[in-house]
Amino acid sequence: MAILDGKKAAAELKEEVKIGLAEYYSKGAPKCNLAIIMVGDNPASEVYVRNKAKACEAVGIGGKLVKLSEKTTQKELELFIKAISNDKSVHGVLVQLPLPAHLDETRATELVPTQKDVDGFTAQSLGRLVVGEKGFLSCTPGGIIYLLKKYKIVLSGKHVVIIGRSKIVGKPMALALLNENCTVTVCHSKTRNLAKITKSADIIICAVGKPKFLTSDMVGFGAVVVDVGINRTEEGLVGDVDYEGVNKYASFITPVPGGVGPMTVAYLMKNTFDAYVNQLDGKYE
Ligand code: NAD
Repeated sequence: MAILDGKKAAAELKEEVKIGLAEYYSKGAPKCNLAIIMVGDNPASEVYVRNKAKACEAVGIGGKLVKLSEKTTQKELELFIKAISNDKSVHGVLVQLPLPAHLDETRATELVPTQKDVDGFTAQSLGRLVVGEKGFLSCTPGGIIYLLKKYKIVLSGKHVVIIGRSKIVGKPMALALLNENCTVTVCHSKTRNLAKITKSADIIICAVGKPKFLTSDMVGFGAVVVDVGINRTEEGLVGDVDYEGVNKYASFITPVPGGVGPMTVAYLMKNTFDAYVNQLDGKYE
């Protein structure tokens, strides 16, 4: 069993972004900026947002972290997203989810213009993935594909089983892997005989949100196992994979922490850099 070291691969991806940006800056290009909008004070979101802001600083992206009050109304939020999206000095806009229950997430995230949708959550970005057009792939699926390729794991022709069908992980992951010529099975809470399906997988991507959900009896010998889960338990941070049991069967496995989490943040840096380069429209090249 070998570890898919997300921390290391993320550091390499961030270094690529840092070098790319430094080259633009050395030619007098304006600063690249990412706006991160957070509403309320969800403690998990606080941690994610802090990590994103830290990564921005490390690669040379100006991170504009905007914290809005828990009491922000839908109208106020929408006006704010529109205003920040119209700011030409901001190249990427991200609305940190979840939003407080009284706010409509889809209506809010849909206001982010496609060229600045570095989270890849809008219908336009997801639609582009469907038709195979260039667009922003959301950061968790993007980071996972980058990590698998970094470890030279061949994707074409492989049977990938994804557990979870969320808009931010499962669905874009399935589409992106189809575009990589994988045979994709998407499982979810209503799937029958889950273990039989997962046992037939070359690659399993587990994004369920339940601690240690994927156990060794669900994994075929030699499978590659990617654990997307981040669960805060009394034991500390725990993934969706029972690591101790599954690692005896897997050929490659991502740890939690240090696997998919850092890749997600690094891929956000990559998407923001790509958005910046697109918006410079050939200047400074
Ligand atoms: P979600 O709650 O939106 O979706 C969970 C999915 O799991 C659903 O599609 C559901 O059908 C499926 N599911 C639930 N019970 C199941 C069962 N018994 N059998 C099969 N499928 C079942 O979750 P999400 O937003 O996709 O996140 C999943 C996990 O990944 C969470 O732990 C979240 O914190 C984590 N996450 C991590 C990152 C990262 O960067 N590492 C990014 C996003 C999400």
